[in-house]
Amino acid sequence: MNAKTLSVLVTGGAGYIGSHTTRQLVAAGHQVTVVDNLYSGHRWAVSPEADFHEYDAGDRVAMRALMRSRHFDAVIHFAGHIVVPESVSDPGKYYRNNVLGSLNLIECCEEAGVGLFVFSSSAAVYGNPATIPVHEETPTNPINPYGRTKLITEWTLKDFAERTGSNLPLRYVALRYFNVAGASLDGALGQATPEATHLIKVACEAACGKRDSVSIFGTDYDTEDGTCIRDYIHVEDLAAAHLGALDYLATGGNSAVLNCGYGHGYSVREVLDMVRKVSGNDFSIRETGRRDGDPVCLISDNRSIRKLLTWAPQHNDLELICSTAFQWERAKQGPKSRKG
Ligand code: UDP
Repeated sequence: MNAKTLSVLVTGGAGYIGSHTTRQLVAAGHQVTVVDNLYSGHRWAVSPEADFHEYDAGDRVAMRALMRSRHFDAVIHFAGHIVVPESVSDPGKYYRNNVLGSLNLIECCEEAGVGLFVFSSSAAVYGNPATIPVHEETPTNPINPYGRTKLITEWTLKDFAERTGSNLPLRYVALRYFNVAGASLDGALGQATPEATHLIKVACEAACGKRDSVSIFGTDYDTEDGTCIRDYIHVEDLAAAHLGALDYLATGGNSAVLNCGYGHGYSVREVLDMVRKVSGNDFSIRETGRRDGDPVCLISDNRSIRKLLTWAPQHNDLELICSTAFQWERAKQGPKSRKG
């Protein structure tokens, strides 16, 4: 272990981004404890070097006991629900888990004197931004419950960090993720969430014959080809941003909200063309109506994160994102091929 070894609690460390981050934290020599209720994560995805607890990260009793049992320097909080359309149809599930669960966790951190917090936020806090690319100062105006739950948790962190009279003021970094996709380059980890809805995952399932077709949700948007545009970031780069944020906070950095994307976007049609190309499978595509809660275009201005953290994209390549996602999907025999 090196001098900068930290004791880090990772909530949602069995999930997609959390498992990649846990692996990078372990490789960097940190002591990692993962808490995950395995709602959408998998036990096999957690690095064996990490201590694992099957708890709900919003369970105040369990988290308080865990934080009393040992000291943590920092928390990285991934645990949360992430499906925009589901948040529209079942907002209570999102407010309970994402807002209340995060508040419980933040209060447990405060009680236990855990002063550093990295939070998985989302570009969904911007809604339909008036200007592209989106800067962190762009007014937030989420257009779906998912985005609102992320913004409320950012505000909660801000208020706790600015709270007067606290012995150990909280410092935090909220990373506003754009669209994460892809799998680890060695094929060990990838997107394994059951019933995934995200575009690249769904397209790779179709390319592997696990679905009959992919639907394009809306072809009449005000974009060049009529489909929505997103800024897709490789999961290994996104994971690395968390280590950068941790390092930044551990060396005295002030609280910050940072966009996490590459700064350019691709339309739904461009993504589907790329998945067809890397897979060599011209799976069928159906054009359907718009999906509730979808912003037309989200592209990050990533100058702040590049300036503040020692982070720079390593895998800024849609072809690599889609090919690693496809190879991962193909290597999985089916939903039951890995236990957890
Ligand atoms: N999308 C689509 N078909 C799908 C899944 C997604 O056309 O099967 C579109 C969706 O409407 C959005 C974009 O792809 O415009 C990205 O959606 P995704 O669910 O991947 O991420 P989000 O931006 O909602 O977090």
